[in-house]
Amino acid sequence: MYDNDRETKEHLCDIGRRIWQRGFCAGNEGNHSVRIGPDRFLCTPTCLSKGFMEPNDIVTVNDRGERIEANANGREPTSEFKLHLAIYAARPDVQAVIHSHPPHATAFAICDQPLPSGVHPEAEFFLGHVPTAPYATPSTQAAADAVVSVLEPKTNTVLMANHGSVTFSDSLIDAYDKLEILDAYCRLLILGRQAGQIRPLTEPQVQALRDLKTEYGW
Ligand SMILES: [Zn+2]
Repeated sequence: MYDNDRETKEHLCDIGRRIWQRGFCAGNEGNHSVRIGPDRFLCTPTCLSKGFMEPNDIVTVNDRGERIEANANGREPTSEFKLHLAIYAARPDVQAVIHSHPPHATAFAICDQPLPSGVHPEAEFFLGHVPTAPYATPSTQAAADAVVSVLEPKTNTVLMANHGSVTFSDSLIDAYDKLEILDAYCRLLILGRQAGQIRPLTEPQVQALRDLKTEYGW
């Protein structure tokens, strides 16, 4: 996907700026990573805004979450990398993970409101069923295990109760697209509930979307 680690690091910074500009993460919140080898990952550092990263801030880690190369800016990996590792281990197809706190989606996560499916074609098509993982203290193995416990074979987006979201895919840009779609969908649901009563798609309408997904090989 990229010619070298430098390009990948620049891409991680670019995605970080988008996440910050969209207000998906405040302060130093959130983290994202890509898999660059069987036992090698690039991840965002701890204690730094995702909107102000430069390539020398990105950290190279192994499959135990240990920094394996000197970091030019003296950065350490995100404290939540256990979550990333657990997803990479559970899903060999996943090449990129984004953990974020998008406000509209996190509103559902803090209210213990499961995300409805069968309401909006884009969400249905690109996200599918979005499960909610039970709450566990951020940065712990329990939080990582909680997310893995709700994964289904085609899951690409999970709400984390009282915390935020995690999206993952075979590319960083696609994991980011899912984050945008998730928060846009949750914003629509909140606005829809204010505007009137949400009318779910009918079963044949949902089935037609599933057929379309199959046609696209998703
Ligand atoms: Zn978090």
